[in-house]
Amino acid sequence: MSSAPPILKSFFKKFKKTKKSNFEIDFKKIDISLISIHAIKTIEVLEDNGFEAYLVGGAVRDLLFGIKPKDFDVVTNATPDQIHHLFRRSRMIGRRFQLVHVIYGREVIEVSTYRSQQKKIPQADGSVIKDDNHFGTIEEDAMRRDFTINAMFYSPTNHKLVDFHDGLEDLKHGIIRIIGDPEKRYQEDPIRILRAFRVCAKLNMSLNSASRSPIKKIVPLLHEIPHSRLFDEVIKFFLTGHALNSYKVLCDENIYSQFFLSPEIESKEINLFISNGLKNTDLRINQDKSCNPSFLFSFLLWHQVHQLWDQYKIELKHSIAGLNQAIDEVIEKQIKLFPIHKRFTITMKEIWRLQPRFENQSPKKIYRLLLHPRFRAAYDFMLLRCQSNELDHSIGIWWTNFIDADHHEKSLMVKELTRK
Ligand code: ATP
Ligand code: MG
Repeated sequence: MSSAPPILKSFFKKFKKTKKSNFEIDFKKIDISLISIHAIKTIEVLEDNGFEAYLVGGAVRDLLFGIKPKDFDVVTNATPDQIHHLFRRSRMIGRRFQLVHVIYGREVIEVSTYRSQQKKIPQADGSVIKDDNHFGTIEEDAMRRDFTINAMFYSPTNHKLVDFHDGLEDLKHGIIRIIGDPEKRYQEDPIRILRAFRVCAKLNMSLNSASRSPIKKIVPLLHEIPHSRLFDEVIKFFLTGHALNSYKVLCDENIYSQFFLSPEIESKEINLFISNGLKNTDLRINQDKSCNPSFLFSFLLWHQVHQLWDQYKIELKHSIAGLNQAIDEVIEKQIKLFPIHKRFTITMKEIWRLQPRFENQSPKKIYRLLLHPRFRAAYDFMLLRCQSNELDHSIGIWWTNFIDADHHEKSLMVKELTRK
C-alpha cells in the first residue's frame, strides 16, 4: 500500500480539525488561490440566494492534495431551473438528468443538483431500466460517487468540508476505496476500474484489497463501454500530465494489453523509447503545450510496426513495401483491440511512413520532406528514435541544424551531404 506523499503528511499534521457534526469538518487549510474564482463566484451566488452549494469530487480531492484541479464541479440543492434562473450566462444540458453549465468566458463551471443513486426499475417484459434521474440529498449524492476520496464536498466560503465516507482518512493513507459493494459498483459502470487506476497513477495511491479483488472478473466488461467514452478515459491516462506513471500502472495491472498491442520481443531500447515518449508528453502537458493523440499512439505502437517491418522487408524484398504492409497490419489489429478513430490513424501512418525519408540524402527529397504537412510530428518522432539509440544521433543533429539554418546554409548543408 502506498502512503501519502510528504507534502500531504505535513499538511495533515498541521490542519485543525473540528468536527461540527459527524460528517462536517472545519477545514481552513485548503489553499483558496488554487480554486477558480468562477467556481467561488458560482457558489457565492447560490448561497446568497439561500441555497447550499459545494465544490465536489476530483476538485476537492486535488485541493486536499495541494494541487490545482483541472476542472471544478459544483453541487447544490437548487434545481436546474433555479440554477439557470440565477445565472444569465448559463445553459441547461443533459436529457435525462439536467445539469447547468455556467459560462465565464472560456471557463465553464458545471453545476448539478444533488442526485440520488441509480435505481433499477424492472419492466413488464423482464428487462430492467436504469433510472438515475432523481434529485436527492447531499448524502445520497455522496453515495452514488465512485470512491471515498471523490465524494467529499467543500465550501470555499465557509471552509466546511463534508465527508460521509471517511475520504479524508483514505486520502491521508493513499487509499482508493470504492463506495458500496465493489463488484456491484464496477458492474454498474466498469469505467470505474479505469478511473481507479487513473487516480492511482495521478496521485501515487493504491486500491484497498476489497476494491481490487473483483477487478479481474470485471475487466472483460471494459470492452462493452461505448467507444467514445472508453477513448476519452484512456486518453486521460496519457494526456493529463502523468503518462509515464499511467503506463506503469496499466502494465502492472495487466490493463495495458487490453487496449494496446504489445511488441512480441521486449528490450531495453523499446522501454527507453516508450518512457522517453511518455516523459516528453508529460513535459509538454505541464508546459501547457498541445499533445496530439496520434503522436502518442504512434510511439506506443512503433515497435510492433518496426518488428513486422523487419520481417516484411525481407519477405517482400522491398523496404518501403514492407513498411506499408507492417503499418496496415498493426493498425488493423490495433483497432480491433481499441478503437482509434481514422482521423488519428491517418496521421499515425504518415508519421511512420515518413521515418525512412529522414535517412534519404537526395536534395530534392530532403526539401520535399521539409515541406510535408506532417514534417514536425515526424521529426519529433525521429528525434525520439535517436534518443533511444534506435537511430544514429548524427541524423537527428543534422536535421535539427538543417531546420535552424537559413536558405543559404541549407543549400550548403545539402551540397555537403551529396559530396560525401
Ligand atoms: P479529474 O477531473 O482529475 O480527471 P475527477 O474525479 O474530477 O478527476 P470527473 O470526471 O471530473 O473526474 O468527475 C467528477 C466527479 O464525478 C468524480 O470525482 C466523482 O465524484 C464523480 N464521478 C465521475 N465519474 C463517475 C463514475 N463513473 N461513477 C461514479 N462517480 C463518478
Ligand atoms: Mg474533475
